[in-house]
This record gives sequence, structure tokens and C-alpha cells, in this order.
Amino acid sequence: MRVLKARTATPATGSAEVRETVERIIAEVRARGDAAVREYSEKFDSWSPESFRLTEEDIEKTVATLPEQVIADIRFAQGQVREFALRQRESLRDVEVETLPGVVLGHRHIPVAAAGAYVPGGRYPLVASAHMTVVTAKVAGVPRVAACTPPIRGEVPAATVAAMHLAGADEIYLFGGVQAIAALACGTETVPAVNMLAGPGNAYVAEAKRTLYGEVGIDLFAGPTEILVVADGTADPFTVAVDLLSQAEHGPDSPAVLVSTSETLAREAMAHIDALLPGMPTRDMAGPAWRDYGEVVVVDSLDEAYALTDEYSFEHVEVLTANPREALSVLRDYGALFLGAGTCVSFGDKVIGTNHVLPTRGAARYTGGLWVGKYLKTVTYQEVTDPASSALLGEVCGRAARVELFEGHARSGDVRALAPGQRPEWA
Ligand code: NAD
Repeated sequence: MRVLKARTATPATGSAEVRETVERIIAEVRARGDAAVREYSEKFDSWSPESFRLTEEDIEKTVATLPEQVIADIRFAQGQVREFALRQRESLRDVEVETLPGVVLGHRHIPVAAAGAYVPGGRYPLVASAHMTVVTAKVAGVPRVAACTPPIRGEVPAATVAAMHLAGADEIYLFGGVQAIAALACGTETVPAVNMLAGPGNAYVAEAKRTLYGEVGIDLFAGPTEILVVADGTADPFTVAVDLLSQAEHGPDSPAVLVSTSETLAREAMAHIDALLPGMPTRDMAGPAWRDYGEVVVVDSLDEAYALTDEYSFEHVEVLTANPREALSVLRDYGALFLGAGTCVSFGDKVIGTNHVLPTRGAARYTGGLWVGKYLKTVTYQEVTDPASSALLGEVCGRAARVELFEGHARSGDVRALAPGQRPEWA
């Protein structure tokens, strides 16, 4: 393995500074509600409207400012997300089985009653995050979806508001950052608490969700975005360069990694990046991201490339090789896989219909991204209608509980094991 370019920084997510800030803001919102939300919104976003919640009239006026094409493209993307989410929902069947005569065990998928959908908006109005969080929640059957996003440079992000509305959000709030996450999780005088929070965000937002987990549910740890491209000598180095930069532009802390079996391709891709960066309108984000978090590694075989890719456990993995489908059966740890040059991470981010809320910072080792299943609670039930089976279970339960020294549990079992009218010896 040869490293042609190493990263020079460690992502701030989870750093002591971020944790302290997050804990302070959450404590303030918990103690002082709306007043604290307003103070932090003023401080970080210079935003203090009369009400953070948009009225129906506000929403309609905002949507009316948008060109028809923008609305049509939002509808297209939401159609794709909805279609895929519906199929995923259909794949989740309730289960009911009879394991012994008259012994029925089952599970059901019940949507959470209220979900908060965080749509990022600090640097860019992340319109597509509204499709991902709100459409998916609605397909899952969540009755109350409260969506929020910060203002963008002091302005209402019109396309994001339209996307939330068209996706079916029940409430739309214009606030962001830790104060928004805390308001939705803990509730304030004007924001009823939700049961679960979903959506991506910067290091502060991701840390806030992690901190509040337990008090509310969260979808997953979805922080600053990451891309890893696996490329062999058949890949186009220009495409590789463009795709690496497409994710680096998310923010100055977004890692972009190339793992290649071809040193020639790797060096050509690096040259293209150096040539493209100065002319990129988003070079202020992509430039530092590539400088500090960009990595280029040359490996001897695709097997080595796959093993290294699993070690990184990145959010997005693009496979630009002669036989990209091979990666599907080999790779284990990634948020979403993009197979072949016909697609790209940007398709997943914006239009293709898979969910773009994905695990970062190694969370792909234990979870996939947001999907309908994340909004559902899989709960179980049981019923025993055959007295003989109830008696059998009662006997085994009595013995099993006494091994654990649980006399109370054992007695519940004993009662089921008795013939009608019989009294247990311990009564
Ligand atoms: P954001 O909405 O996540 O964060 C903006 C908020 O951060 C502001 O409202 C502000 O209140 C707060 N903030 C900013 N600086 C702060 C500070 N110093 N202290 C406390 N709070 C502060 O928008 P963003 O910043 O543009 O970040 C969006 C992020 O979402 C990017 O990092 C992007 O990579 C990530 N993302 C991740 C995924 C995923 O699935 N993992 C998908 C899309 C986007």
C-alpha cells in the first residue's frame, strides 16, 4: 500500500469543544425553553422572528415565489424517494406464528407518534434532506412530522420550505442547530416535543442528537459527509476527481478518499483536482476539505482495496472498476454503495431515490442509513388460548424462574400449571 496523499486533520465531530457547546445549549433550552432557543438563534443565525413556526399563509406565499421548474424537480425527486420507500415498507411484514398448540407469537411495526425532521441549512439549503426525512416518515405512517431548518444567511430557504410542505410536513419551524434539536426533543412553550429525531447535520447537530438519544429516539449518527472512491485502471480520472470534489464541497471537514489499484489513475485524478479546485465556486469548502482530509492510497489488488474500504466504513462508497457489481457481495461496512460510472453520490444526494441520510464517522459498522424502518417500532405480542400449552409453559416457567431465584415469577408460572380450582402449595 502506498499513500500518495495523507490527511492532516482529525474531524471535529465528538471533540471536547463540540460536546461542551452542545451540552450547554441543551441545558439552556431545557431550563428556559423558547427564550433560550431565541438567544441561540440570534447568536448563531442572526434570526429572531416573531414566531419560529411558519403559518399556512407563510408557507403558501413562500412556495409561490419559486419557479415552476424548481417545484417540478422537487416533485420528481420526492416521487423517486416515495416509490423506493413504499417498496421498502411493503417488504416489512407483520409476523404471527403458532409455536405450540394455541401459542401465538407476533410482531407488528408501529410508526412513532411524532418525529422531528432536521433539514440542514447552515451553508447550503439542503432541500433534498426534506425529501429524505419527511417523505420517508410519511410513508412509514408517522402521524405528526415536525420539520425544521435554519434560515440561510438571514433569508427564508424557500425551496426547502416548499420541499417540506410538498413532502407532507405537519409543522414547519425555521430554526437550526443544537437549539432546534433540543427544542424538538425536550419541547418548549411553543414546540411540542417529538418522540424521535431524524436527519443529517453538521458536527453540532449530530452531537446534539447523540447526546439526547435515550430521551428521544434518533435515526442514526449522520454528521459531516464522507466519500471514498474505489477505482481501477479502467476508471476515468477526470470523473474520479469531479466526484471526490462533489462531496468535499459539503464542508471543510468532509473527508474524500481515493483507493486505487492504479498509481497512474491516482496521480492523474490528483492533477485534475488541483486543476479544478481554483475555479470551483465552492472552493472555500472543497479546498480546505481536500487539503486537510483528502487521502489517496494505491493498493496492489481490488481485494486489498475492498478490505481497506471496509476499514474506513465510510458514508458513501463509489466503485469505478471494470466489474463494479463484484463489490456488492464483498463489501460490508458502508452507508450507501454507488456501482459504476453511470451513477454517482450526487444522484443519491439529490434525485435517485435511495435515502441520503447516512452513517458517518464509522457508524456504518453497525447501521445503514435512514429508511422507513427507522421510523417504525417493531413490537411483539403473545397469546395462549390452549390450557394444556399454558400449563406446560407454566411448569417450565416455574422451574426456570426458580433457577434465577425469581420466586414471584415462578408463582405466576405455577398458577398457569394448576388444574382449574386448584390452589398452589405456597398460597
Ligand atoms: P446545519 O443545519 O447542520 O447546521 C447549521 C447550524 O449549526 C446553525 O443553525 C447554527 O445554529 C449551528 N452552528 C453553527 N456554528 C455553530 C457553533 N460554533 N456552535 C454551535 N452551533 C453552531 O448546516 P451545515 O453547517 O451546513 O451542515 C450541514 C452538514 O450536513 C454538513 O456537514 C454535511 O456534510 C452534512 N450532511 C450529512 C449527511 C449525512 O447523511 N451524513 C447528509 C447531508 C448533509
